[in-house]
This record gives sequence, structure tokens and C-alpha cells, in this order.
Amino acid sequence: MSQSLNFKNRFIDLGPEFYQEKQPDPVTDPYLIDYSPSAGELLNLPLDGGINFLDQFSGNQLMEGAQPLAMAYSGHQFGSYNPRLGDGRGLLLGEVLNDKNISWDVHLKGAGPTRFARGFDGRATLQSSIREHLGSEALHGLGISTTRSLAVIGIRELIYRQKPELAAILVRIADSHIRFGSFEFFHYTNQPKNVERLADFAIQNYHNEIWNEPDRYRIFFGRVLRVTAKLIAKWQAVGFVHGVMNTDNMTITGTTFDYGPYGFLDSFNTRYTPNLSDTHGRYSYQQQAEIGFWNLNKLAETLVSLAGADNLQEEIKQYQPLFNGFYRDEMGRKLGLSILDSDFSQLTQEMFQILQNQQMDYSNFFRLLANYPEQIEKKQFDEALHSWLDRYLKLCEREGISHNERKKEMDAVNPKYILRNHLVQRALERALKESDFSEVTRLRLLLGNPFEDQPELFNKYDIDPDFYSQDTPNEFLGRQLSCSA
Ligand code: AMP
Ligand code: MG
Repeated sequence: MSQSLNFKNRFIDLGPEFYQEKQPDPVTDPYLIDYSPSAGELLNLPLDGGINFLDQFSGNQLMEGAQPLAMAYSGHQFGSYNPRLGDGRGLLLGEVLNDKNISWDVHLKGAGPTRFARGFDGRATLQSSIREHLGSEALHGLGISTTRSLAVIGIRELIYRQKPELAAILVRIADSHIRFGSFEFFHYTNQPKNVERLADFAIQNYHNEIWNEPDRYRIFFGRVLRVTAKLIAKWQAVGFVHGVMNTDNMTITGTTFDYGPYGFLDSFNTRYTPNLSDTHGRYSYQQQAEIGFWNLNKLAETLVSLAGADNLQEEIKQYQPLFNGFYRDEMGRKLGLSILDSDFSQLTQEMFQILQNQQMDYSNFFRLLANYPEQIEKKQFDEALHSWLDRYLKLCEREGISHNERKKEMDAVNPKYILRNHLVQRALERALKESDFSEVTRLRLLLGNPFEDQPELFNKYDIDPDFYSQDTPNEFLGRQLSCSA
């Protein structure tokens, strides 16, 4: 028996200007690469995904109630407007209401070309799909708002990038697929009525409680601004670099969306950009907050006639203070400090200087710091870090909590495991060369709970925990990737 998902499709009611209805292209002999049961739970799927999972989620077998469609959108890519985007290879199968009355978009990425494909093949590489799968599940594990990846399903098809590559379908679960670029599409094609309908749709479905407010469009924008600032503050805190912060990759719900050449900081370098084609560093680590602001301005432009330019300006002004506040809170938690005054600000500034000068591993620094002063020999550090640690300890002392308590709090927010490039690379190599997907599964499990040691996982697989937590090996430091990798 096939599972029946409770499809309650809403987006389709907006009408054909908003999408192209299209069935997924059939695939031959789909096979499972990895399934995430915790993402499946969102749709009330069984632990193994259920019978017929592969046929249903590769698009071979249409589920009752699904109404697949490719969404229309445009967007600013690297600062320039591209009028012709849209789901070229993705399909929203439909929106599923779960037993908690929460609606989830179920989207297939790589389901065949749509009318937005611009001559591309409508497929996704196995590599990029595994990277998105692990990236999404890792950010979720870190407690950061993100689309989820239900599964990667391999298909027996070779596709051509720089060379022939294996293809796959990624099953993405998201609270929304409405992007800043969805608004831009109707704005730049001079369809103000459809900008309004999209805004109303977004408000009704995601902010229903403000529906009756006379200035609902302004409030809506303010909310998008707030969740965006919060999201980026969290990225900065864990050292996540999205890599392609185009306006078509930003959603109105403030979720991490569309994983391409993303990366995590290893040795601390604010100029790090994981995207090989980002030669000017537009989307580097240090730029992300600023780019979030730039993108929000682009969204605001589309809402001027609905919300009023002055009102939007007032909201826009809130971005920097909001971001600063969120970021300060994040850094406070990372350092185990709650008194976030000017001494704290100075301490964090100096910390970044030291991290940068000494190219220390960003994530492991905080794990190590949580042990200070009990289990750390200060002798191993240089003068600058030495004196920084003294000042840090003074700020710890005024908090009035024990070292054990502080360590517990810090270890709960500073990951022991992050998705380091060499870890993904190893999982990819095994997958591509040996069709061995077990490392993908292990990484998903490990990174689903990145704050815990998880000895049972290592015992079960008889693997070395240090390999997963140690600093990135030199040859992988600051690795960059191309968009199709
Ligand atoms: P992305 O880099 O995934 O955000 O994609 C940017 C745009 O290119 C979107 O409109 C995608 O739908 C489209 N696109 C990327 N790769 C393909 C492909 N292989 N086939 C069709 N469209 C694609
Ligand atoms: Mg995109």
C-alpha cells in the first residue's frame, strides 16, 4: 500500500501566471542514497520512508493529491538582475499538512526540465544533491532555520557538466518556496496586482495574525527583515558561508535555502568564500550581513506601492541594530557570557583578531575554550592569547556561575562536529567511486547532533571520532567549489 500524504495545495490557487504545471519526468530504476527519518517525521512518514517511497519521491508514481508545478521567479544574481529564472529543474509536488497542522512544501530538485530550464537538462548531479542533503541536515542539527532534505534518490542517468556525472533527485521539504525573487518577477514584469496577490498569499499563510492590520504589508516586510537578520546572525556565529546569496535564494521565512557551493569556516578568515566563481568575494563570510541588507532592499522595492516608501525605509533602518543584537547574543552564548557590555564587545573584537592572526580553527576554538581554565595548559598559547584568556576569565568571573555550568552551556551551542569539506569530500568519493553511501548516512547522523560526543555512533561503526572533530587538514583549508560540484 502506498502512503497517502495529506496534500492541501494552496499555491496552485494563485493561478497560472505564478507557475507552470508539469509532471516530473519518469526515471529508470531509482535507488536510495540516503533518507532522513527526522525530515520524514515532518510529513508523518514511517522511519524507512514507507513502501513505494522511491517511485513516489522520484516522481515516477504520482501521489494522490499532488499537483506538481514549477514556480516562476527572477532575481538578482551577483548584483545584476536576471529576468529569466524560475524552477528550471525543480517541482513543487504540493503542500502537505501534517498531524500537527503544519504545512510543508514537498519539492523535487532535478525532476526534469521545465519551461524555465533555458536549455539546461533539468537534472541535478549526485554530488550536488548529496552536498545539499548533508548541508541541510547539518544546519538543522545546529538549530539553524533551513529547508530539510528528506532524501537523495539516485537515478540511472548520466548528465554532462565539465564531464559526465551521475544524476540524482533531492527531495526538499520547506516551510515556503516563496523567494525574494518571486516578488521581483512580478514587480519587474510590471504586474502590480500579482505582487499584491503574492504578498497577500504570504501574509495569509505565514502571518495570518496580521491580516486585519491596516499596514499589513509594512509589518510583513518588517517580519521578513527580522527573520533574515536573525538567520544571518546565526550563520555568522557558526561560521556558515552560504556562497550564493542571490535574491532567488532567499525566502520570506528566513530559512537557509538552496545549497550550492557553501562552506564552513575552518581556520578563521573573514574573507573566506566557498564559491570558486565569486572572485570578488561578494558573498564571503564578512559580507553576508551586508548582502542580506542589500537583498532586503531589493525586496522592499517590490513592495513600495503596497507599503509606502517611507514606511519601508523605517523598517529598513531596523536591520543593522537588529542584526547587531542577534549577533551579540549569539557570541555571548558561544563565549558562555550573559553580560554583553562594552568589555564584552572589546573582548570579542580582540578574539577575532587573534583567531585571524593565528589562523585558528574557528569551531574548535570555542570547544577548547569551554575547558578553560580547568583542563587547559596555558603554556601552549602565545602571548596575545595568554593575555586574552586572562581578560576572558575576568568576564567569566563576574557572571557568577561555576566553570562546569559554563562549560555545559558552551558545549550546547558550540558544535564539536561541523560539516568540514574534507568530510563531505570523503563521503562523495565513496559514493561516486564505490557506490558506497554509508558515509553519507554516518555524516547525516553525526551532524544531526553536532554538540554531543556520540560514542555509540563511533562504536557502532568502529570509526575514529578524532577524524571527524579535528582541525581541517591543511590541503583542505579554505576549499572552494564550483557551482555544479
Ligand atoms: P541555482 O543555482 O540552483 O539557484 O539555479 C539558478 C537557476 O538556474 C534556476 O532558475 C534553476 O532552476 C536553473 N538551473 C540550474 N541548473 C539547471 C538545470 N540543470 N536544468 C534546468 N535549470 C537549471
Ligand atoms: Mg537558486
